[in-house]
Amino acid sequence: MPPAAAPLPCVRLLATGGTIAGAHTTGRGYRAAALSIEALVAAVPQLATLARINVEQVAKLGSQDMTEAVWRKLAARVQAAVDDPALTGVVITHGTDTMEETAYFLNLVVRSDKPVVLVGAMRPATAMSADGPMNLFNAIAVATATAARGRGVLVVANDEIHFAREVAKTNTTQLGTFASGQRGLAGLVNSGRPHFYAPPVRRHTAASEFSSASAPSGTGVPPVVGTGLTRRKPALFPRLPRVDLIFAHAGMDRALIDAAVTAGARGLVIAGVGDGNLGAPALAACAAAAKKGVAIVRASRTGGGVVERNIEIDDDRLGFIAADELNPQKARVLLMLGLTRTRDPRTLQDMFFTY
Ligand code: GLU
Repeated sequence: MPPAAAPLPCVRLLATGGTIAGAHTTGRGYRAAALSIEALVAAVPQLATLARINVEQVAKLGSQDMTEAVWRKLAARVQAAVDDPALTGVVITHGTDTMEETAYFLNLVVRSDKPVVLVGAMRPATAMSADGPMNLFNAIAVATATAARGRGVLVVANDEIHFAREVAKTNTTQLGTFASGQRGLAGLVNSGRPHFYAPPVRRHTAASEFSSASAPSGTGVPPVVGTGLTRRKPALFPRLPRVDLIFAHAGMDRALIDAAVTAGARGLVIAGVGDGNLGAPALAACAAAAKKGVAIVRASRTGGGVVERNIEIDDDRLGFIAADELNPQKARVLLMLGLTRTRDPRTLQDMFFTY
């Protein structure tokens, strides 16, 4: 008798919507999140050669409607999946507009070495030459790869594998929209065959102080038994404080900064000009906000490079935080999480040099 084939790995596929589940309406228009996850899986029968897949529709939205409430729900579902010893990895379908923010959030709060992979598409599922099916196939392949373990949350699209910390959407419509800036790709994936490069450079997932195991006391809940397997019900992730993101420009005044403080922002990220700079009126407003205890992070609107401390702005004197390499939208994610632990600018700055 021939030896029995090894069982295929098991992957949990969590769906949130996006263009990968989009369908055309009229003319060039389409609606994101129109199709169910079952329909997307049924369209790629080749997935059955890679893994046993169980699906869950966590949300059904275009990712421009992604919220912190959905992030917390998604984080809990991902944590439950990675805590299940029967599962090899997790794939999340997601719109590309805010995928980098969700990926970075999960990269900081999920406690596991198992692969967690976000995947999207630039063309709707009903488009000619839709990119979703191959992206999904590649994402499932990456989620089952032993070499993907311990690399933090990954993004797969257009035959590329990106680290959550590095990836950014850089083009409105082109298939190759995702780029990973100075640090570069995590790897490539060719028709389900992943090739990994160097590991990630900063702390993430299991080593993150924001992961569920290190959630502030009182948020954890006891282990439960489910589907025949003992698994830990995930900790409830803390509610995130309000952090606003303001885009700097020539001739900027202080109105938006003051408005954000009045609206109750506990932190502000400034997408500053150049090296995270901003003109005198806006700078004065930020200095006043910092004095009141609002955390001020200087990021850059340039899309590349490092924002360093104390170059043209005296961060030490003003109590500001430099975003280091994070783009403004990811700086906002880290600041929200950081503010669940501290309001001290020096401790927050250390976080920006750590994650
Ligand atoms: N707005 C859509 C979304 O983010 C389009 C982008 C996409 O999914 O490719 O869900």
